[in-house]
Amino acid sequence: MSQQDRNAVKVAIDKLGYDFDHFELNDFIRHVERVLRREIILLPFAFDPGLSALWVRAETAHYIFYNDRTHAIHQAHSILHEIGHIVLNHACRPLDQVLPPELLKLLQTLQPQGRLRKAGLPLRQDPEEQEAEMFVFVIQKSLLLKQRQFEVMGQSSSNEALRKWVDSMAFDV
Ligand SMILES: [Zn+2]
Repeated sequence: MSQQDRNAVKVAIDKLGYDFDHFELNDFIRHVERVLRREIILLPFAFDPGLSALWVRAETAHYIFYNDRTHAIHQAHSILHEIGHIVLNHACRPLDQVLPPELLKLLQTLQPQGRLRKAGLPLRQDPEEQEAEMFVFVIQKSLLLKQRQFEVMGQSSSNEALRKWVDSMAFDV
């Protein structure tokens, strides 16, 4: 990923005008909703291991499904990654071939469009996936620099857990 691409992600985050001194995931999501003027609906879903999250762009809202069988830190990472795709206005793809049937029923649309975050996908080869990871990384880094504990879904996590999270990033920093 070039320095120019990294800067573009930083600029997009700056443009949100969010105060990261008081970061809290749900508060951040409400802020992004206000900036983009579109609702973002988070839905826990018991995916098979390996599928972390997915973003579905619907007519009236963005839906983010996240795997509630994983650790809270991992959930927060996946949710921020999907928010990255939304904020960076990334391309959507047809999801009807890849989603579990019960989820397709829930979505009430025959041809959902969006993106999914799956272990083992060649993330490093997809520039938009790298940008979404960079989006998460820039936010993580600003929180670490401020020595803030990262509030995850109402729970606070230790800095050690946060470091493990940073170490698990799916791209080269
Ligand atoms: Zn992605």
